[in-house]
Amino acid sequence: MSTHPDLHLLVGGEKLDASGRDTLDVLDPATGEAIAALPKATGDDLDRALDSAVRGFREWRRTGADKREAILRKGAQNIRDRAGEIAQALTREQGKPVPEATGETLYSAMLLEFYAGECKRLYGRTLVRPEGSRVEVQQHPVGPVAGFAAWNFPSLNVMRKIGGPLAAGCSVIVKPSEETPAAGLMIAQALLDAGVPGDVLQVVFGVPDEVSRHLLASPVIRKVTFTGSTAVGKHLSKLAAEDLKVTTMELGGHGPVLVFRDADIDTALDTMAANKFRNAGQVCVSPTRFLVEEDVFEKFRDGFVERAEAIKVGNGFEKGVQMGPMANDRGPDGLAAKIGDAKDMGAKLLTGGERIGNQGYFHAPTVLSEVPTDAEIMNEEPFGPVALINPMAGEDAMIEEANRLPYGLAAYAWTNDPARRRRLAAEVEAGMLAINTGGVSAVDAPFGGVQWSGHGMEDGAEGVAACMVTKTVHEG
Ligand code: NAD
Repeated sequence: MSTHPDLHLLVGGEKLDASGRDTLDVLDPATGEAIAALPKATGDDLDRALDSAVRGFREWRRTGADKREAILRKGAQNIRDRAGEIAQALTREQGKPVPEATGETLYSAMLLEFYAGECKRLYGRTLVRPEGSRVEVQQHPVGPVAGFAAWNFPSLNVMRKIGGPLAAGCSVIVKPSEETPAAGLMIAQALLDAGVPGDVLQVVFGVPDEVSRHLLASPVIRKVTFTGSTAVGKHLSKLAAEDLKVTTMELGGHGPVLVFRDADIDTALDTMAANKFRNAGQVCVSPTRFLVEEDVFEKFRDGFVERAEAIKVGNGFEKGVQMGPMANDRGPDGLAAKIGDAKDMGAKLLTGGERIGNQGYFHAPTVLSEVPTDAEIMNEEPFGPVALINPMAGEDAMIEEANRLPYGLAAYAWTNDPARRRRLAAEVEAGMLAINTGGVSAVDAPFGGVQWSGHGMEDGAEGVAACMVTKTVHEG
């Protein structure tokens, strides 16, 4: 295990360390022990960052597309070159197995490469009138962006906050999670080393609500982008509305999985069980409510339990481990309450249901079946390694249950009936629908939700468009 990287703020291109600043402990979720101290930004630091962001925006928006693209591509290469170190720090702070941390970091580099290419695809359009007048529809960067990232994907969440704005020509102040600061900081450094000016990309930490209130109170910030819970997303949206700032909100979900009798059940099981326990279920697009047609319910349920019991849980640094600890103590504590409530209401606990060991935040892969619709876990995102598997009477009932909650992030369906696929695509209310696949993420495809799962897409051309404003220029 390598030594933990130096943790600091990055303001105006300068590293600001702990001297003269309060600090927060960063914990190893596999042991619960403090591994590093993270400096908190003072009010003056945040004001400095805001001043820098104004200068950065002025400079970066005028930097040509070729140059921006080249710098971002170099940044992506730096991330690739450093992926091993970044993954080590990520696993230490967040817990996921090293191969997953490495994959996440390399995917972040791929996303940045896609965004780099988008620098040259920021087109306007011209309306040419027969009588000779013209109207130009131009796209301009929205302005300085404040980004707030969650701890579940310490590399990718930060990249999603900074990639779109940087391609669009915006400056960004990003606050990675204080629980998992290193990967985001290392990614930002990779970009600064590639030539992104220090005023254009800055990193701050602190008490989340204090930092966001400070930054959002400033007229400098024109866009807010957040990944985290629906409750905090609503709170930040209200703060943003005070100043009519643009928002992108990537919030919670409660992924329904519709499994029909005509599906390839073994493929569905292999794919969805692996998906469910990835990152210990702490994934906004995690499959959670498995709605299984009655004829195949028993086969699916038993196959899922078998696969859950085969998952190797342990320290993310151990070879062969498939699921690490949960990232913080809120994880297992929150699950205990939700699983207890479900059992009290009559759900069957088929496997797991408990913490593992007395050190760190490990939780067993868990399967509950026949979970009543009014149990808390059927309504609030468990955000942990728990699958809820219920028998369903048929397509109409399955679609109705899938759409019952106000969340609409990722939904999944397994069916070999082409007509049904079209109906599901039309009727399931979600930002993303995966049919006969577990994947809902591709660098060139928009990623995001509807209703309580948020609004505004990240990734794809939409991820850059969300950082632009339109100006219409009429010429006589
Ligand atoms: P949370 O919303 O309190 O925190 C999520 C992230 O937001 C953290 O990194 C935190 O530092 C940051 N944050 C919190 N309050 C903030 C504020 N006022 N201003 C700016 N940033 C702020 O959630 P949590 O307690 O860490 O997890 C609870 C639930 O949140 C989970 O169970 C899950 O439902 C949801 N969540 C969703 C995602 C996602 O990918 N959409 C990620 C993490 C958590």
